[in-house]
Amino acid sequence: MEIKGLTVDYGEGAGAVHAVDNVDITLHRAETLGLAGESGSGKSTLAHAVTRLLRPPGRITGGQVLYHRRAKDGGPVPPPVDVLAMNPAELRAFRWEEIAIVFQSAMNALNPVHNVAAQIADTLRAHRPGITREQCRERAAHLLTTVGVPAARMKAYPHELSGGMRQRVMIAMALALDPDVLVLDEPTTALDVVVQREVLAELVRLREEFGFAVLFITHDLSLLLEVADRVAIMYAGRLVESAPAQAVYHEPEHPYTRGLVGSFPPLRGPRRELTGIGGSPPDLRSLPPGCAFSPRCGHAFDRCRRDIPLLRVPPAAPERLVACHLDDPDGGSDAT
Ligand code: SF4
Ligand code: MG
Repeated sequence: MEIKGLTVDYGEGAGAVHAVDNVDITLHRAETLGLAGESGSGKSTLAHAVTRLLRPPGRITGGQVLYHRRAKDGGPVPPPVDVLAMNPAELRAFRWEEIAIVFQSAMNALNPVHNVAAQIADTLRAHRPGITREQCRERAAHLLTTVGVPAARMKAYPHELSGGMRQRVMIAMALALDPDVLVLDEPTTALDVVVQREVLAELVRLREEFGFAVLFITHDLSLLLEVADRVAIMYAGRLVESAPAQAVYHEPEHPYTRGLVGSFPPLRGPRRELTGIGGSPPDLRSLPPGCAFSPRCGHAFDRCRRDIPLLRVPPAAPERLVACHLDDPDGGSDAT
């Protein structure tokens, strides 16, 4: 899935703010891509936009989301489709079948008056008209077992389940139609740390079994570094760095990423000093000129307050993209 130049505005005219500003990201087949950033950085807005679940006053004002389907039965590879141009019927077929979403609050997403197995069976029936009642029931039970919901709990209503169990039910529901892409927006944030780890371990295992790609969104970079292949960092609606997870952990390049990595204890190995990031995220209605991070950045120089840094491949790190004027060979002389 290629996200190209995606821009999402809140509000209109002079008062409009770019919650997502000209973002390019590619999610490769069977990859886990983590999207991190503080709250308000635009990551949830991006998730809602690519799945076309954005509600007013949010508006997609630019870009494309090109979805590349697999070739069917040895046939030719079909041309990519733009998710942003799909009509309602195309969207209905696309969601759940090709892309499924798990949001933070499973309580709100589940129907309180149906037991959880019945809800999954309903989703199956809605998308697979030919399937029998019995087949639906069997498949629902199989999915729930797969994500670790015990058989005894399948007839439970959502309010009878713990937060962790509800989130597992949501994941089972998301997997029901065998999607190629799973979008997870803060899927474990409402859970306590132990349950969070269990649900994540389950997700990693499921991904290996089913081979779907994951766009995993969270403010918790330490969590992402454990589960993602690649990590993209957003700040004030823009992408500031993307790199393999290991590279982000060991050598974060962008000053903001360095601040994020420095604000949690190391996952293993020697201890290091926790530094954190001073200041708070900017108000999108009045972004500073140039680099939006400049008021909080210990490395800011004149150019930072003038020009918006664009994503570029640093000469020494071809697998990364970084939007920062530091060490930019084309940066002119004001860095000295
Ligand atoms: Fe800091 Fe300048 Fe880089 Fe922005 S562009 S992160 S202000 S050094
Ligand atoms: Mg969010």
